[in-house]
Amino acid sequence: RAKGDGRGVYRFFEAEMDVRLQARRSLELDLRAAFEAEAFDLHYQPIYDLAQERICGFEALLRWTHPTRGRVSPAEFVPLAEEIGLIVPLGEWVLRRACREAVGWPEGLKVAVNVSAAQFTSSALIGTVKAALAESGLPARRLELEITESVLLVNGSATVAILHGLRDLGVRIAMDDFGTGYSSLSYLRSFPFDKMKVDQSFTRDLTVEQGSDFIVRAVVSLAASLGMTTTAEGVETPEQLAWLREEGCDEVQGYLFSPPVPASALPALLDLWNGRKRRAA
Ligand code: C2E
Ligand code: MG
Ligand code: MG
Ligand code: MG
Repeated sequence: RAKGDGRGVYRFFEAEMDVRLQARRSLELDLRAAFEAEAFDLHYQPIYDLAQERICGFEALLRWTHPTRGRVSPAEFVPLAEEIGLIVPLGEWVLRRACREAVGWPEGLKVAVNVSAAQFTSSALIGTVKAALAESGLPARRLELEITESVLLVNGSATVAILHGLRDLGVRIAMDDFGTGYSSLSYLRSFPFDKMKVDQSFTRDLTVEQGSDFIVRAVVSLAASLGMTTTAEGVETPEQLAWLREEGCDEVQGYLFSPPVPASALPALLDLWNGRKRRAA
């Protein structure tokens, strides 16, 4: 009995795998075509400075509208772009586009750009960042690069050398999604990050019973003792905001302020949070 059933189950998995592989393969082709057709766009999410009580910058987030599937999440297509090597040219496009748009923002506002591990496989990244700054005219101090812990897992010492090269250009380096990776804290000795971004999974259950409040408190104090600032991601409620303010978190980001929006929506957002009306109030 078992034999027959097993075979049937196996066939079912085979068919299912086939469908998934085909779906993946077609998404892969669409992704390459999209790059050729420049079908990508950047949205921006405000980063709010709690001491200054104003928007201090925006994080650039890649958007892809697929011709038939509609909006595809970067959580789905970025890993695919990494696998097929497309992230290198795509990441370069993101950097150039983000710098070009940010140079037109009011003075002092910075732009944060996500950089994936695959972009750290050669020191070409330093030249790419340098070129993006030079051709846009954006001062280096207004650019912040967000990397995840996984970057340091792949090729530690080479990555650290590239990070120093980037730092020498004058850009800031933030550790994204802090607390979700598999690496140990020892990498914090190998490179002095400017900022830690507390992952949204910790922010989410900050104010629930038995929540992650002790973790976030520890991260804020760890960061402070290492001379880094902290940004909490995924802030959705006034309760979370009040807690983070109380605990000395420097910056916050989340739907409470705004979801990521097209560049055209930024002036209205700045008017809302940093504008004259607000100052008068
Ligand atoms: P991330 O860098 O950690 O970006 C934050 C993600 O959280 C964004 O998702 C943002 O839309 C979402 N988010 C912001 N506020 C809230 C909130 O209050 N609640 C919730 N539930 N979510 C919030 P998004 O845009 O879907 O991006 C997902 C991930 O894809 C990013 O995570 C980043 O790792 C990657 N990604 C996006 N753009 C790029 C890019 O240009 N290059 C690279 N390498 N990766 C990118
Ligand atoms: Mg990020
Ligand atoms: Mg993050
Ligand atoms: Mg993330």
